[in-house]
Amino acid sequence: MNVCIEELSKNFGAAQVLRNIDLHIPPGEFVSLLGPSGCGKTTLLRILAGFEHPTAGQVLFDGKPVSGAGRGVPPEKRDISMVFQSFALWPHLTVREHLEFPLRHHRFVAGEIRANAARHIGETLDIVGLSRFADRYPSQLSGGQRQRVALARAMVTRPALMLMDEPLSALDAGLRIAMREEIQRIHRICGCTVLYVTHDQSEALAMSDRVLIMNSGSIEQNGSSADIYYRPATSFVARFVSGSNLLEGKWQGETFCFGTRPRCRWIVPNVQDSIKREGLCPLRPDQLVFTGDTRELPGVIRNVQFQGKENHYAVGTALGVLRVHIPGARRCEVGRQVFVGLRDKAENPQAYVADSAAMVM
Ligand code: ATP
Repeated sequence: MNVCIEELSKNFGAAQVLRNIDLHIPPGEFVSLLGPSGCGKTTLLRILAGFEHPTAGQVLFDGKPVSGAGRGVPPEKRDISMVFQSFALWPHLTVREHLEFPLRHHRFVAGEIRANAARHIGETLDIVGLSRFADRYPSQLSGGQRQRVALARAMVTRPALMLMDEPLSALDAGLRIAMREEIQRIHRICGCTVLYVTHDQSEALAMSDRVLIMNSGSIEQNGSSADIYYRPATSFVARFVSGSNLLEGKWQGETFCFGTRPRCRWIVPNVQDSIKREGLCPLRPDQLVFTGDTRELPGVIRNVQFQGKENHYAVGTALGVLRVHIPGARRCEVGRQVFVGLRDKAENPQAYVADSAAMVM
């Protein structure tokens, strides 16, 4: 399904929850809506589902208006399905009955699927690995199996648009990773358009063709996972998506100058002009290293967390506390003096000019 959102706004009383959203999702695309709690993700999803109506603007499915100011096509008349955070299973229905129900009542089910419902349900249960559990009730299933039922119920009708609202957030960390693959596979098989709401950065970046970053009811950036991660358009996106450090200073082309006497300069390519204009330099924790070069930025380790293949440090510097991720098992202890530099620069020293000396801590 081709989804078009035009100048969409939503108010609850005096509070404006969505501000002038413009968005086009072509058929078959997997788009994630990523943002902090309360930024309006679920509200946008509920408008697409038909549970809420916009205050202004409109939504078009395949060119036909389905939601406009204060009105809209009801959810049961839209060719969509939804997966909720809470799974929303019916306790009195077996797994198989959960799939029979939408096939009987969803009005957009293709004739061929309806005519061969039993076979189609069998195939769908196979896809999500639930064939052995077809006659069980939700209370007889684990959390991961319940979520698979919810996914199977959503895909069994082969909807044109699948809306997913934090479908993995009730699962433990290991299961969440396994279910990501499951969802990607389901998307490949169904070929439907997917809008996936999450506040988990890694989930959104891992699965999506495109990621929309929402903040306070607006879309701050709309791009591929790599774009969002490597070329954030705003300081909010840099901090929210990759946990970037935001250093204050002045830009001269690709050279970022920070500190006072003496100056420190780092060449940082690929920073968007919109962030440069804020006088900020976003640096992901993995772009920084501890270097033996005492002309670099001095600091003292304030905290360290072991993360298996790397250690995560908090380093107190004249520019504030910087987050630095260092690969490898070797660990520097709290209280140790270090010099923080750019990973790129440490690896290609010829390409850089630096004239920093001991900065006043
Ligand atoms: P979360 O990640 O915590 O689910 P979200 O980004 O999905 O958050 P929404 O649920 O869309 O956020 O809510 C956005 C804002 O709208 C919040 O401040 C919320 O309190 C408010 N809100 C949502 N629904 C209603 C409602 N029916 N009436 C009044 N305010 C509402």
